[in-house]
Amino acid sequence: MKKVFGVIGLGRFGFNVAKTLAEGGAEVIACDIDEEKVRQISELVSSAFVLDATDEKALKESGIANADTVIVSIGENVEASLLVVVQLMELGVKEIIAKAVNPLHGRVLERLGVSRVIHPERDMAIRLAHSLEKGTI
Ligand code: ATP
Repeated sequence: MKKVFGVIGLGRFGFNVAKTLAEGGAEVIACDIDEEKVRQISELVSSAFVLDATDEKALKESGIANADTVIVSIGENVEASLLVVVQLMELGVKEIIAKAVNPLHGRVLERLGVSRVIHPERDMAIRLAHSLEKGTI
C-alpha cells in the first residue's frame, strides 16, 4: 500500500517537501492557512486544504491525521507549531516530523516526543561545510 504523507504549512520548506514527495509518486495531503499557497500546491498533490491547523475540528475533518507521516512545517509561529504537534499526537499520528526555527523550539519539539526535528538552515549549513571540508582533503 502507498504511504500517505501529510504536510502542514506550505512555506518554502513545506511546499518543497510536499512537491518532491508527490513527484516521487507518494500520496500527499497538504494544508495551509493561506489560500494562495494551497492553490499553488493543489495541482501537484492528492488533496489540499485551506485550514488553520491549530483548530482541532478542522484538523480532524481534513483527514490529515490519517497519514502515516505528518510533516509540520510551521516555523515562525512557534505556538501554532506546538499546538498542532500535540493535537496530531492526540489524534494518533505515529510519525511526526517537525521544523524548528530556533534551538529552543527544537528542544521543546524533542521533549514532546516528535520522531524527528529538522532545523533546515542549520542542517543545510552543516552539510555544506562538511562537503567543503571533504573537498579540501
Ligand atoms: P519557510 O522558511 O519554510 O519558507 P515561512 O518563513 O514562509 O517558511 P513559516 O512561518 O515557517 O513561514 O510558515 C510556514 C507556513 O505555515 C506558511 O505558509 C504559513 O501560512 C503556514 N501556517 C502558519 N500558521 C498556520 C496554521 N495555524 N495553520 C496552517 N498553516 C499555517
